[in-house]
Amino acid sequence: MRAWSAPEVPRLTQPGPAVSLHDTATGGRIVPTPDGAARLYVCGITPYDATHLGHAATYLGFDLLQRAWRNAGHDVVYVQNVTDVDDPLLERAEKVKVDWVALAERETELFRTDMEALRVLPPAHYIGAVESIPLVIDLITELEAAGATYRVEQDLYYSVAADPRFGAESGYDRDTMLRLFGERGGDPERPGKRDPLDCVVWRGEREGEPSWDSPWGKGRPGWHIECAAIAREHLGTGFDVQGGGSDLVFPHHEMCAGHVQVVAGGAPFAQVYSHAGMVAYDGEKMSKSRGNLVFVSALRNSDIDPMAIRLALLRHHYRSDWEWQDAELFDAVDDLARWRRALALGAGAPAAPVVTAVLDAVADDLDAPTATAAIDAWVDATLGAAGHLADASDPRAAAAITDVLDAALGLAL
Ligand code: ZN
Repeated sequence: MRAWSAPEVPRLTQPGPAVSLHDTATGGRIVPTPDGAARLYVCGITPYDATHLGHAATYLGFDLLQRAWRNAGHDVVYVQNVTDVDDPLLERAEKVKVDWVALAERETELFRTDMEALRVLPPAHYIGAVESIPLVIDLITELEAAGATYRVEQDLYYSVAADPRFGAESGYDRDTMLRLFGERGGDPERPGKRDPLDCVVWRGEREGEPSWDSPWGKGRPGWHIECAAIAREHLGTGFDVQGGGSDLVFPHHEMCAGHVQVVAGGAPFAQVYSHAGMVAYDGEKMSKSRGNLVFVSALRNSDIDPMAIRLALLRHHYRSDWEWQDAELFDAVDDLARWRRALALGAGAPAAPVVTAVLDAVADDLDAPTATAAIDAWVDATLGAAGHLADASDPRAAAAITDVLDAALGLAL
């Protein structure tokens, strides 16, 4: 599938430090040590509704990672999927009486436009669930050969007991797993399963639903096997970072890891499992079911500068759960106006320590709030209290700050 177009990103003369990341599985910091190119997989959207700010915050978080790796001198192979056939998409298409393929294409295109506007670097491989069906069939065939699958009526299930590492990614106890599995698309109550936590890898054909041929009859892939197959194909096993929102910790990422680990002889799926926090609005997590979504496209259509949306999101650490306040967007608009005023002066307060501070902060578990605070401090020193050029000791300061703002934070001013 076509990704979105890549923005031009300045190459910095000063290299950034190695990137350290919080790892969900161990609860500690890990410095991924890419063997050649750094390999990143981030779970993509199910395209049945536009990009809301919760999605945008997640993709922005991993965009910082891609930029930090590039600044540290690594090439990056970034893979993202599009779940372009799944229950929520089909349900929405049925509800609004739109062909599911047309709905998926329309919403995927809107997502691309939103990502471009926010200057999110595109994945090298942007893969849809439908186009990945041959990969899915290969992986299920291997799972079957490993004795890790069984049938319940027309559906094929994966047995979590097949993976000795099951539970290691999330670290959740069984009660938590059972609760989350039920809340997030699983079917713990279904009779005939060996373990209530076992998940569908091939869903047999249902009337009125799209289906594809497979060795297990007509049907379509489960959600977890889709990401597992795409990641394995394009990144191999033991790739550097699997990322996504924290609502994917379980069951999605646990199952993806298990599917691949079972056929990889126990080798780990990824080195680091990285998760972005959830964004709330009006007191609740932003979600389709609650209807409290703020859409990136709606803000763009209101002539809000996408760089202000980006800055407002970057003011929050990617791992924190936080609540969107409309006022923060207006603050970001004001901040950008002030930053642009300072950058227009050419000269300014010394840039070198600020460039170092920004690169260090982003490499330190993607700490964008500290990085943007370093820019605020430079702007304050340059403009002074009166808003006029107060410190012109670095004649090329603006150029250096402009470059690091884009290279490290994706803010093109
Ligand atoms: Zn996924």
